[in-house]
Amino acid sequence: MPKVIIHNAVDPAARALLEARPGMEIQVIERDERERLRRELADADAIILRYLPLDAGDLRAAPNLKVIARHGVGYDNVDMAAAGECGIPVATIGDANSLTVAEITLYLMLATAKQGLTHDAAVRGGDWWQVREEARSIELYQKTVLVVGFGRIGSLVAPRCRAFGMAVNVCDPYIPQSLISDAGFTPVADFSAALADADIVTLHTPLNDETRHMIDAPALARMKKGAILINTSRGPVADGAALHAAIASGHIHAAGLDVFEEEPPQPANPLLAHTNSIFTPHIGGLSRECFYRSAIVCAQNSLDAIDGKLNAAYVVNPEVL
Ligand code: NAD
Repeated sequence: MPKVIIHNAVDPAARALLEARPGMEIQVIERDERERLRRELADADAIILRYLPLDAGDLRAAPNLKVIARHGVGYDNVDMAAAGECGIPVATIGDANSLTVAEITLYLMLATAKQGLTHDAAVRGGDWWQVREEARSIELYQKTVLVVGFGRIGSLVAPRCRAFGMAVNVCDPYIPQSLISDAGFTPVADFSAALADADIVTLHTPLNDETRHMIDAPALARMKKGAILINTSRGPVADGAALHAAIASGHIHAAGLDVFEEEPPQPANPLLAHTNSIFTPHIGGLSRECFYRSAIVCAQNSLDAIDGKLNAAYVVNPEVL
């Protein structure tokens, strides 16, 4: 009887799709059930994985595992070397959450530009008149945005910025630059110079050795005074301590962050004190619609792996197939 483990926090649609297959065993694992996870992995065929970490010990204890169906596109919670060594494919949800993340990016851009938190607090706290005298919000119209990374998400953010009348520069050295110019945006080769030209910088690269702290103190110093930084990619792409210092000094106007170097951030994280910035708890891909889509893709990837026909387009380590 095939067995699928589901990390509890997925849309019930995943379970429904799996249960439609006669004879399927489903085990639901709660967030803190590490010991039980290891036991259940012993005879599992598939696991639908949210943010639980899967280490080498877990993977070596899972001899039947035919897929790790990641409920997202990042897979930094899986020991990929061990997955390769054990021959276990890791399948993501592909582009199922790209649009949702692009929308959160625009939300953070608007919320920082329009100082959403400050204005909301003014209404609730009775500070109606003072804040109206300060005219704190800025327009996106005719501002320059630098989109860093023109993959699934960056390429959806760029046209949404254009719709607001922004000049859109794109930095992505790893794709044909014609993809950027053919879409009507300006490719930039010199990241440093592009930082200095932008009113808003928005990050959409993967996290790797090259992009870790890509936005560090010198990069922030090169940005325009009063610029805004948006990060919906991975927390460590921006150096949190340097970002705090740049906002505290007034050089950077605000940050809109969905991701943090440590998640959740400690209450004492100084970034959290900046009320002109706005934060979301890594919910970039968690619209209701996307939660449903992600569950369906994960369940289908599990069924397909059990049937020996996993769609290679979702697999991030295809060498094991
Ligand atoms: P993708 O792989 O489709 O695109 C990434 C792009 O970045 C690629 O085009 C690549 O060429 C480019 N790139 C790589 N290194 C670069 C560099 N040094 N400079 C400029 N560009 C570079 O990825 P995606 O699906 O668009 O995801 C982008 C990021 O968003 C990832 O970090 C992903 O983990 C993250 N993400 C976050 C959430 C969330 O909930 N906040 C959800 C999904 C994805």
